[in-house]
Amino acid sequence: MNNAQLNELKQRYVASGAASPATQFADRAENAELWDADGKRFIDFAGGIGVLNIGHRHPKVVEAVKAQLDKVMHTCQTVMPYEGYVRVAERLSQLTPVRGHAKVMLANSGAEALENAVKVARAATGRNNVICFDGGYHGRTFMTMAMNGKVAPYATDFGSMPGNVFRAPYPVPYHGVSEDEALRGLKMALKTDANPRDTAAIVLEPVLGEGGFYAAPTSFLEKVREICDEHGMLMIADEVQSGFGRTGKLFAIEHSGVEPDIITMAKSMADGMPISAVVGTDKHMDASGGNSLGGTYTGSPVSCAAVLAVLDVFEEEDILGKSRALGDKLAKRFSQWQQDFACVDHPRNLGAMAAFELVTDKNAHTPDADLAGALCKRAREKGLILLSCGLYGNTIRFLMPVTIGDDVLEEGLAIIEECLTELSG
Ligand code: PMP
Repeated sequence: MNNAQLNELKQRYVASGAASPATQFADRAENAELWDADGKRFIDFAGGIGVLNIGHRHPKVVEAVKAQLDKVMHTCQTVMPYEGYVRVAERLSQLTPVRGHAKVMLANSGAEALENAVKVARAATGRNNVICFDGGYHGRTFMTMAMNGKVAPYATDFGSMPGNVFRAPYPVPYHGVSEDEALRGLKMALKTDANPRDTAAIVLEPVLGEGGFYAAPTSFLEKVREICDEHGMLMIADEVQSGFGRTGKLFAIEHSGVEPDIITMAKSMADGMPISAVVGTDKHMDASGGNSLGGTYTGSPVSCAAVLAVLDVFEEEDILGKSRALGDKLAKRFSQWQQDFACVDHPRNLGAMAAFELVTDKNAHTPDADLAGALCKRAREKGLILLSCGLYGNTIRFLMPVTIGDDVLEEGLAIIEECLTELSG
């Protein structure tokens, strides 16, 4: 079927809340390239929104998934467990920088990992409240919608949200929130809204994903750790977007040396197979028993096979080194664009988690969300998939596979240059 026929089906049968605004249907993909149902080629700078750090259909992952399909596709791990689940748990326990010995529970999506992380924190502390951040994004289930900052307006149609969720400012100096101010806001939220004695956890992204690719300074993360320790609260790092190599380390929090109690992860851990994980200190992870942290499909054998293959690829192909090298290349190019274009400002990156902003005034840092929308639209017409994000919708974020070839990368960056010249001229 071609794009036109598929769009007709989409309009007739797919719920509008679930229907993509894009009109091209993916037909096949390889590494950093996609072809649509009409045969048009696209360069993929979105990487499935941070899922494809090792590229579409990495051959090692495809091979591992096929081999698993020939053995066991599903048993429900509570009915009969299988090797993949415990081996993934072992590897993640060894690799995830939480305090002490780590234990693992697997789920299916990022939101589900966050739901379970909050369950663990409540069970471990016997307290109800959680503190989250402006600009944070954690998912589209009820609890995670309540936890999202203002960046995600998804909750508007769905009635009341779960309570016991409080919010603090995230440090974004470029938009007027200094680290000191953020810290004061966090302390104030604890003092006036959420009693620390009733607070189970502080949940934060070490680098905001949907909120705009702003990295929390190390000193801020250290202070959050201190505050958690002072009040017996758990520190939960949501690394669904920043984890699995995007920033040049397996987890972004490793750049700071701060050890949280729990890390949530999903997206790039299985190169597109659905799986997520909550990895935390054993005494917390063991606080609830009796099959309370799971579900029919959690940690499917096929997804587990993909995770193990992804971890092998990380070692064999120096994915973390590639992530840092890609980040350096992007940073150089963005600085050039900042000089060349009046609308490009605030280039930033932690490894390959890279972004810049489009503004109408560099002195006032005035966001230009319209230009960001126009850039992504024009880029797509020219065969480049590009994403914006951020509290102000004016950040252009880069999530292409770190395995992208130099030629394809250059071709994609040249399209952005062309678009910026056209649109700002
Ligand atoms: N946390 C973060 C930091 C995310 O970026 C996302 C997805 N963008 C989620 C949670 C939710 O993940 P999922 O869409 O798999 O539920």
